[in-house]
Amino acid sequence: MLKVSGLDVSYGGLHALTGVSLEVREGEFVTIIGPNGAGKTTLMKAISGSVPMAGGHVENRGRDIRTFPPHARTDLGIAHVPEGRKVFPSLTVLENLELGSYRALARRRRAEGLETVFALFPVLQKRRHQMAGSLSGGEQQMLALARGLMAQPDLLLLDEPSQGLGPRLVESVFEAIAGIRRARRLTILLVEQRVVEALELCDRGYVLEAGRVVLQGDRDALLSDPRVQSAYLGV
Ligand code: ATP
Repeated sequence: MLKVSGLDVSYGGLHALTGVSLEVREGEFVTIIGPNGAGKTTLMKAISGSVPMAGGHVENRGRDIRTFPPHARTDLGIAHVPEGRKVFPSLTVLENLELGSYRALARRRRAEGLETVFALFPVLQKRRHQMAGSLSGGEQQMLALARGLMAQPDLLLLDEPSQGLGPRLVESVFEAIAGIRRARRLTILLVEQRVVEALELCDRGYVLEAGRVVLQGDRDALLSDPRVQSAYLGV
């Protein structure tokens, strides 16, 4: 579904990503883990088209999408839920959700989309006429996830959905992601610093350090890898 090869991204003179290659197959749940500043957010932005690539290839279902602007990638079914719960605070929950469905296909299926996200996140239905800015941090994260789903994506890019949340809310966000996965066998690429939770949910993962992929493997191989255990799991 998604194939990234030899991806380079620079900010001025700083090489944020160097020769990054990864693949996400149809229906797979792939996780990227790595420390602060490893380049995880940059990788998501390069895939969704919001930072320019300095080199390499990005293909979606065999199609070269390097020159596609972000909205054209959304039209192809790639939805990016950015880090930091970027909801529109002075719009209602419902208005935020509707903004997620501007893609033509999603617009036609808006009612069905709302039904799905309200079933997954009943709290959003309860608060649908409230300003998004009045929701708690956890609820805003649910709204950001739900807005991503409203685009009826084939590939969901999730950038650190647990960021800035307390432990109880982190748990409910991961439960929500597992719920999304069960409800629709979506292809998911998740970036996380919560390594245990992220690896437990995924099929496969990549470890990104200083802008390079240093390790990759399926869930069990990564969870039992001594380098992952000592650097990320505190074993
Ligand atoms: P975090 O977990 O802290 O979000 P990350 O793994 O997502 O980190 P990135 O945010 O992709 O990492 O950053 C990778 C590198 O690029 C870092 O050194 C960061 O300081 C730098 N960087 C990120 N965005 C910019 C920017 N807009 N301009 C300049 N440098 C940037």
